[in-house]
Amino acid sequence: MTRKALVAAVALCGLSVAACGGTADGADAGPARIGGSASQNAAPAAQTTQTTQTAGSTGDVQATPAASPTTSPATSPATVAGSTPGTSLQGKVIVIDPGHNGQNYRHPSEINKQVNILTEKKACDTTGTATNSGYSEAAFTWDVSQRLAKILKSRGATVKLTRPNNDGVGPCITERAAIGNKAKANAAISIHADGAPPAGHGFHIIMPKKINGPVDPVVDASRKLGIDVRDAFKSGTGVPYSTYIGAKALDFRNDLGGLNLSTVPKIFIECGNMRNAGDAANFQSPAFRQKAAVALANGLQNYLK
Ligand code: ZN
Repeated sequence: MTRKALVAAVALCGLSVAACGGTADGADAGPARIGGSASQNAAPAAQTTQTTQTAGSTGDVQATPAASPTTSPATSPATVAGSTPGTSLQGKVIVIDPGHNGQNYRHPSEINKQVNILTEKKACDTTGTATNSGYSEAAFTWDVSQRLAKILKSRGATVKLTRPNNDGVGPCITERAAIGNKAKANAAISIHADGAPPAGHGFHIIMPKKINGPVDPVVDASRKLGIDVRDAFKSGTGVPYSTYIGAKALDFRNDLGGLNLSTVPKIFIECGNMRNAGDAANFQSPAFRQKAAVALANGLQNYLK
């Protein structure tokens, strides 16, 4: 690996950390820590305009706020596809956590504030990543979450989101967990997309590990939730298992506040790699986002039935 390539890889690792808390294992775990620095996360938008070259050279592109033409709200005709009305989820409470927030990049001091996630101290929140063309992870997670909420409600579920729009800051990862706990959710899902080296593609699920803490009693249930959502996402979207992390798209971590602090069954999904051209093309397609939302709803429903 050339020095340039190494720097690029480190930047990407940092990006991955900034996006979602970092890889818990693997060779990238060490250098990835730099992603937590304020300078990485606080990159002003002005530095994010060069988004077409190799992702590694623009590690701060995650701050790009640009809304691509494909960031249409969940109001297209496709939205209703798959949202078969019914009562199959009646009585169930589901909390959806759309990762990051659209204005996080403008408020570095707020989102870099350190919070206690029991296994370590960590930034309150991060900017998230983006595709090379500037479609932000925050916009993606918000759009999929809106679609998912609509489908789940149509099936009778009570749905709560951890943020009201994509125009704000945070909340902190600790608060994101607390919202699920307070709601006594039957299931909670945090929706993300990764910022990994461009060659890697595919989706993966992140589940909690026991930490001698509040999440321990729901580790087993979270694993079952994770497997149900994995199976539904694979069959519903055709997106392959991640080529760069986890085993059969399953990863277990103890460094994510949203999981460590959860007292309800909870998982993260990294729907793919925003820095991979194929995955990015998917993310920027409203039809794909609808397909993803339906698949997630089916996975949640399979778990809850
Ligand atoms: Zn993320």
